[in-house]
Amino acid sequence: MLLFSRFTRLSGASVRFGNAVRLRIKGPLCVYCGGTANTDEHFPPASLTPNGYLLPACRECNSIAGTTWATDFEERTRHVKAKLRLKYRSHLETPEWSTEEKDELGYNLRKVVELWQTQKTVLNERLAWNAVAYLLSIDHNSVFAETFVEDVFLEKVKKLSLNRQKE
Ligand SMILES: [Zn+2]
Repeated sequence: MLLFSRFTRLSGASVRFGNAVRLRIKGPLCVYCGGTANTDEHFPPASLTPNGYLLPACRECNSIAGTTWATDFEERTRHVKAKLRLKYRSHLETPEWSTEEKDELGYNLRKVVELWQTQKTVLNERLAWNAVAYLLSIDHNSVFAETFVEDVFLEKVKKLSLNRQKE
């Protein structure tokens, strides 16, 4: 669990909306799926608290995330991925076609099959995206990490930094 338990300190680029204070963690990719980030994800959601973070997210994940699992980043990520899996289940169920099989299709049908296969590949990559590792990698001052006091999380941070040292 990555629980939003307290908002202990503010440093770096904070964004103020009235009395609200949000710390922006910048990154080019969506924290949930690794797609191109083009929106600000409010974590926890703005309806819950004026404080917290702005995380990079793609429009689709941002809207799927909603207010579900508002204060638990890992559960929130699982929720987003479950919704994506459901939304694109027919793409995911697309069977693999061999080149020979595709050669037997007409031009238009072949294009459709190839498009679905590409979408399936992209989707599997989004579902396999390691949200926690990415978030830690863009959380340069560890401000996000410091607001999470769960032991499990701290263990993960330790492991990740050990792995980084090994590289
Ligand atoms: Zn996304």
